[in-house]
Amino acid sequence: MFPCGSPVILANAMSKLSRREFAKLITAAGVGANLPVASETSDRTIAIQVGAVSFVDEGVAPGLDRFQKDADVNTLLIATFSYGRGIAGRQVPGQPLPDHGKQEYDVNFHGGNFARTHEQYYTQTSLKNIQAPDHAGFDVLERVLPEAKSRGMKTFCWYEDVFRPDLDGIERLQEVTVSGKKVNTLCFHNPEVQAFWQALTEDYGHSYPVDGIMWGSERQGPFGNAIGASHGGSGRDPLLVTCFCEFCKQEAKARGIDTVRAMEGYRKLAALVDQTLAGSRPADGAFVSCWRLLVDYPEILNWEKLWNDGQKLAYQNIYKTAKAIRPDLQVGWHIWHNNSFSPFYRAEQDYAEFRSYSDFLKVVMYNNCGGPRLASYVKSVSRTIFGDFTPDEVLAMTYKIQNFKEANLQDLPHSGLSANYVERETRRALASAGAVKIWPGIDIDIPTAADEKKTEPGDVREAVRAAIRAGAQGVVLSRKYSEMRLANLRAAGEALRS
Ligand SMILES: [Zn+2]
Repeated sequence: MFPCGSPVILANAMSKLSRREFAKLITAAGVGANLPVASETSDRTIAIQVGAVSFVDEGVAPGLDRFQKDADVNTLLIATFSYGRGIAGRQVPGQPLPDHGKQEYDVNFHGGNFARTHEQYYTQTSLKNIQAPDHAGFDVLERVLPEAKSRGMKTFCWYEDVFRPDLDGIERLQEVTVSGKKVNTLCFHNPEVQAFWQALTEDYGHSYPVDGIMWGSERQGPFGNAIGASHGGSGRDPLLVTCFCEFCKQEAKARGIDTVRAMEGYRKLAALVDQTLAGSRPADGAFVSCWRLLVDYPEILNWEKLWNDGQKLAYQNIYKTAKAIRPDLQVGWHIWHNNSFSPFYRAEQDYAEFRSYSDFLKVVMYNNCGGPRLASYVKSVSRTIFGDFTPDEVLAMTYKIQNFKEANLQDLPHSGLSANYVERETRRALASAGAVKIWPGIDIDIPTAADEKKTEPGDVREAVRAAIRAGAQGVVLSRKYSEMRLANLRAAGEALRS
């Protein structure tokens, strides 16, 4: 018999303690023999990224049933806003459909806001016509929140910095390249862009009883882009780097940075990159030539920092906005996978700095697709700044700098990265994050090319175990349920229960 008797008292006691603490207490009292023992997983955040289409296709209750039963999920990261297929929509066309959901590609995917858009919040931005037309009348937050709450699951809005060029009013917000072209990305130093992120955050925070928000921006500054320092960065026109709009020029002026010199520096950098991409070695080599430019034109790195500071402004803006609505809203960020590849980008993601505007970080540690992606990064920079080295040498150097060691370049796209990489990256994040919670992003069936690494249940089990072993306070099953195979999803649950 339980001494307190009443199930209400029991529930109250449980709500004040974590389930694990509660389980310890009743075990110590010798009274818990017949009560269900709380699993180790219950005070961790076990999150899954899921888009509206999955609830439309498979139903809200059946979807949540599966997440709870198969993977012990207690938190939903719902893709509420994106124009990209990385987190919204069904499986990417050309990739095999998973063993659940509608067996059909959504070739007419559009994207936008998958919750209802409340106009009153968007008075300070011309970008306001953002309602996703994909599932007319289906407000994903309105439909999912009550069902999630009744099960004790938390719901987070997950929104990202991905746009399309055909939206009303978007031109005013777009970035401008060093060659003067407008592009599809939005400028963080443009007040309307910050007003847009503030509006969307206010809309979610005021309109819905959500538990938190996560925002992501998979972009880097002009230096990283000019030298192709990212997966998929190869062959990008080095003159398409951003941003040189009027707002950025104003910001530069305020900082005492000479815009003309900065643009000249980036044009010279582009010319150098074009030369090395064409396979022609500068007389002093690629690295020395690049470094010389950085010394001659410190404005190049000044502009890189100016861009990064704009992105940080967005983090701070969203954080402040959310906390002003409700201080208990949990606010955190998706940290781009490039953090695992490019040391230039990694240097700019300072976890200690994130402490002042973050409750949690979802650090991407996608180990399976990490193989082909790391290989892609290596091939790209071995044609630019590291053009003096062979790709194999660049990979060896990258392992040393990033402090993990995996397969050689030939095998890497097929082997992926191991769970050891997940463990090392988790420990590295925890070492600097202070009170900020670290929730590693776990790769479940993120698309790769036909002959590249595919996720298997053992990969998911090992990656989840590695994250937990390293001390992570949660995991985020990624990127979207609509591309996950069920055996791989169940493997996450197996790891958490083992
Ligand atoms: Zn700009």
